[in-house]
Amino acid sequence: MTATVPILDGHNDTLTKIFAEGGCGMEGFLRGCEEADIDLPRARAGGLAAGFFAIYIRSTDPKPEEEPARDAQGGWTFTPPAIDPAWARAETSRLLDCFDALLAAAPDDIACCRTVEDVRSVIDGTRLGIILHLEGCEMISPDLRELDALYARGVRSLGPVWSRPNCFGHGIRFGWPSSNDIGPGLTAAGKALVRACNDRGILIDLSHLNFKGFMDVADISDAPLVATHCGCHALAESARNLTDEQLGVIAASGGLVGCNFFTGDLRGDGRFESDMPLTRMAEHIEHLVEVMGEQHVALGSDFDGADMCDEMQDVSRLPAITALLRGRGWSTEALTRLCHGNWLRVLDATWPDASQSMSPA
Ligand code: ZN
Repeated sequence: MTATVPILDGHNDTLTKIFAEGGCGMEGFLRGCEEADIDLPRARAGGLAAGFFAIYIRSTDPKPEEEPARDAQGGWTFTPPAIDPAWARAETSRLLDCFDALLAAAPDDIACCRTVEDVRSVIDGTRLGIILHLEGCEMISPDLRELDALYARGVRSLGPVWSRPNCFGHGIRFGWPSSNDIGPGLTAAGKALVRACNDRGILIDLSHLNFKGFMDVADISDAPLVATHCGCHALAESARNLTDEQLGVIAASGGLVGCNFFTGDLRGDGRFESDMPLTRMAEHIEHLVEVMGEQHVALGSDFDGADMCDEMQDVSRLPAITALLRGRGWSTEALTRLCHGNWLRVLDATWPDASQSMSPA
């Protein structure tokens, strides 16, 4: 057996899950938390070295999220409503406080990655690296007044929108089968947010943007373009997936796509069921490679935010995908690029040098 390659994963919603009311909290995360896809013991077992951990703000609607109604052909759409920015700010602040408490409780086990050096140190070391990401920026005002305080607290990545409208743009609503060319692009505030991220070296995630919003970021941003968790529209006509045209734009910018693990975006029949063979995920990864080249492809699980297939039920199963790809002829070099090498290159080109960083130690 060849040693497993350390993985930098592009997206999870674990902080939101464990720190939700009734979630297993800090102790659960450190010792083991059955209801979450990621906890520290299983992250170690699965070779997860680092990940983008999202601050994702749930809707205040108390109804549990259900699968949407389907038409006779199995098609469906789901349009999440906008949320109150005041609620988003309060919840962001609470989640960041929870995260700080987690870091303080387990400094030998968890690291907040603020620089590329921090990320390299966890890939070569034993701590789990957490890169803070905002999935939807409802906590930021149109004049961006909260952005620097969020940066100071460790945020190094953001998606202007989740799949709902806010002051920065219109997130792509969910749906299958569906184009992603729905709705207008970024607002003036959204365009200013992209420039402000470039100025500070904050990574911008394209994952929940519609086509016009995606192209607005591509036009404005001077950083490599990144979609942290998406699949291929050519293989599955989910509104959340990227067309080959979009993949070409990302590759030309020197960026990357983290292949999403969500069954609803991978299967191709628009269903969420877990009885999807892991080979389907490999097919999406290999399509990304075919269109963009292997230096532009990474992993973006969406653990704790989406339905996973039977063979990838939690983070401890990550070695199953690298073993499968190895069996399909992937070299150790190619797997290393997929698992973290491409991320390091993109972060090097996006985040400021540590020497110029304004982040506190
Ligand atoms: Zn997402």
